[in-house]
Amino acid sequence: MNSIEKLCLEKGLRMTDQRRVIARVVSGAEDHPDVEEIHRRSNEIDDRISIATVYRTMRLFEDYDIVEKHDFNDGRSRYEEVPDEHHDHLINLRTGEVIEFMNEEIERLQEKIALEHGFKLVDHRLELYGVPLDEKKT
Ligand SMILES: [Zn+2]
Repeated sequence: MNSIEKLCLEKGLRMTDQRRVIARVVSGAEDHPDVEEIHRRSNEIDDRISIATVYRTMRLFEDYDIVEKHDFNDGRSRYEEVPDEHHDHLINLRTGEVIEFMNEEIERLQEKIALEHGFKLVDHRLELYGVPLDEKKT
């Protein structure tokens, strides 16, 4: 059983065969796929899964805090399983590739800023957008 399936069971979500396939695809994804990509990968396992089913299932998983939805400014929603350990994202604007990172200094700084405003930090999202330094100029 994959970790999303396990979470669904823990949270009392009814699992259908199609949901199980989608859970497997998202759980096994190393990137941050959008609905269309999840649909494409799911169809390799079961071609009866419609894009509408993928949309519905991802919204359900999101409501149950099983997946996180990201908007990396390219007009597509991307998904990843809710990670065990916090990380932030660096997006390559040329390729759309998403790099995960975690920086203690940034984490501490954010807590400090919240504190200075009289808040205890409970969550944050940080996205960096960049182009490769070694990019050839044309
Ligand atoms: Zn991530």
